Amino acid sequence: MAKQKILPLFIPMEGCPRRCIYCDQHAISGQAAPVSAAEVAQAAESLPVDSGVQLAFYGGSFTALTEARQTELLQAVQPALAQRRITSLRLSTRPDAVDAATLARLRGYGVTAVELGVQSFDDAVLRASGRGYDVEAALAACRQVADAGLTLGVQLMCGLPGDSREACLRSAYLARELGAALLRIYPTLVLRGTPLARLWQQGRYQPLGLAEAVEVAAEMTLLFEAGGGSMIRAGLNPSPATEAACLAGPYHPAFGHMVRSRIKLQQALAVLAQVSEPRELHYPRTDAPQLFGQAGANAAELRQRYPQLALVCAEVAPGALIAVGGGGRAENTLDAASRALAAKLLANLPL
Ligand code: SF4
Repeated sequence: MAKQKILPLFIPMEGCPRRCIYCDQHAISGQAAPVSAAEVAQAAESLPVDSGVQLAFYGGSFTALTEARQTELLQAVQPALAQRRITSLRLSTRPDAVDAATLARLRGYGVTAVELGVQSFDDAVLRASGRGYDVEAALAACRQVADAGLTLGVQLMCGLPGDSREACLRSAYLARELGAALLRIYPTLVLRGTPLARLWQQGRYQPLGLAEAVEVAAEMTLLFEAGGGSMIRAGLNPSPATEAACLAGPYHPAFGHMVRSRIKLQQALAVLAQVSEPRELHYPRTDAPQLFGQAGANAAELRQRYPQLALVCAEVAPGALIAVGGGGRAENTLDAASRALAAKLLANLPL
């Protein structure tokens, strides 16, 4: 599937009825003030006709803005929509700020996708993170977005206060069962000046380590994508502003690549286990970055487990891997291996 081109415009923490304990959208977006309607119009109209770009309002709770402010922003892009400079609109908001009438109104302005910042489908985690709604409200909001004929995106976090691997996996599974087409995964970071930073300084909160966060995010991705949806981002957009604000936690500018590489490693281990005394692993050139992993971490792990193993770039279909060993050869594809891994995760997940 071709990647959707998006022009993101930020309304940092605008509309939010409360501050979630981990959040500082000003730091993350590097933007102090919300975008104005004039800036929105200018950005949209600077795009060429048939750009194929979707304009997105991120960083706040769009549907919790006053109706006048929502209308001002939505109307600002109508000329660009009419001229096909943008294809459609997307926005992110809170689960407790959507209802059928609002969603119908948004559709009328050209909104085709709504991303809900659910963060977790676990009541204890939602409470501990100061989200201000419960799982029932999150489930209802997801159903309303899907029922309104909009593409449902779900944003989940891992490593929130009170969180666990199982809660994260259950959340990813529920997002898939609710019909979400898109998933974003954000590992919890300790950002300067947030209530979470105080908890961390007092020793009352410990973030996930980087390896653990990558592992959990990879498992969430496997469970979610087995339902046909796409995990479109893992980790915050790397930026100097985020790096400067991050006091602790699993921040890495290549977090998303590390998640995909982790899944690739699992695929490699699965195919290698199918032959005795594996000597070679054949891979297509296109898949080399994920197979070798961030800074060669996967290659090092494979060589540690199989000291005789040679990684061979060969004429192999994208996504496929071929293991060659004493007892013959075996082949798998990323899709098939991912589905098998997801089925195994699901079988061991208390729902
Ligand atoms: S996490 Fe979302 S709802 Fe909470 S304060 Fe930040 S932008 Fe607002």
